[in-house]
Amino acid sequence: MNEQLYCQGCGAPIQTENKQEPGYVPESALNQEQLICQRCFRLKNYNEVQDVNMHADDFLQMLHDISDQDAVVVNIVDLFDVHGSFIPGLKRFVGNNPIVLVGNKVDLLPKSTNLNKVKLWLRNVAKEYGLIVEDVFLVSSVKGTGIDEASVQLDQLRQGKDVYVVGCTNVGKSTFINHLIHQSVGEKDVITTSYFPGTTLGFIEIPLDEQSSLIDTPGIINEHQIAHLMSAKDLKLITPKKEVKPRVFQLNDGQTLFVGGMVRVDISEADDKYGYICYFSNRLFIHRTKTEKAEELYENHLGEMLSPPSEETLENWPALKRKTFHVHEKKMDVVISGLGWITIPPGKITIDAYAPEGVNVIIREAII
Ligand code: GDP
Repeated sequence: MNEQLYCQGCGAPIQTENKQEPGYVPESALNQEQLICQRCFRLKNYNEVQDVNMHADDFLQMLHDISDQDAVVVNIVDLFDVHGSFIPGLKRFVGNNPIVLVGNKVDLLPKSTNLNKVKLWLRNVAKEYGLIVEDVFLVSSVKGTGIDEASVQLDQLRQGKDVYVVGCTNVGKSTFINHLIHQSVGEKDVITTSYFPGTTLGFIEIPLDEQSSLIDTPGIINEHQIAHLMSAKDLKLITPKKEVKPRVFQLNDGQTLFVGGMVRVDISEADDKYGYICYFSNRLFIHRTKTEKAEELYENHLGEMLSPPSEETLENWPALKRKTFHVHEKKMDVVISGLGWITIPPGKITIDAYAPEGVNVIIREAII
């Protein structure tokens, strides 16, 4: 048996099997004297952090001792999948450390969005998870929007302390950190990685100044994300890349919308004809039909007219599960975690929303 090797950058146990997990080194690089994992290698040589993933349980175990540190925790969430990107159990390890929420991908929200309202809403969602947040920033890591402001405010808040950046997979954590790195060091090769003291493995440190660092942690796999059900090709289709264009459908009761074959929304009862506004990737096809035909349509056309799911995704496609919502005086959003949402107008309306088993469907006050 070979002896277990550890990355000299982040302390993760070295492995050659899985690129997506901490400590990965290609076989061919195993004989190096100063052995560092691929993620630390990229940081050292290209000033760039790379995604690595980890299951939530292992992660929470590792983070156990953040609560003993004097640090600031930055939690990044995806504005297009807020409930799918909160970390269950986060409160336990944050301790008394201040927590800052960064809502990423603000570029996807329609221009008409009231961003102050979104910030307030994010604070409230955080509260539902037991988190009192110090500040909320809305940014776009790809466009750079809001990052200057976030980084200035963060510097003030941390007062020389370390910053731990945490987030679920796909929220844009790497893109965000890379933007910060670029901003602070530009093209200069001043980044070094150093072994993270303590027992927590797989964190990488990026020096911010003489005494403090930004610490990149592995992305947490949240099983509720619809992303885990989709093939890579389908995932590209359902993930919006640009500002989402609201699409309005005038519907009576007895009518149904299909978003691809992933979501079905029946207007089961409504006291009038109303406009329902859909916020999904612009590339997704939304199909309108009569509710009485919906079952048959789904059975005969799933994977074709009702796609995604495409053939590849269909191999492990769960049955759709129904959830019923009643809307009265207030405009509400029915949100399908990771996909988007439909705004239901105020009225006397009952909606049956179907999504693949395991994918969260929730109702919230409309954010737009
Ligand atoms: P990580 O897994 O959290 O490190 O996420 P990545 O940084 O790898 O980003 C995941 C996906 O989200 C990639 O396809 C990115 O291009 C995309 N992404 C990241 N930041 C943004 C953003 O600000 N806006 C948009 N529209 N997409 C983003």
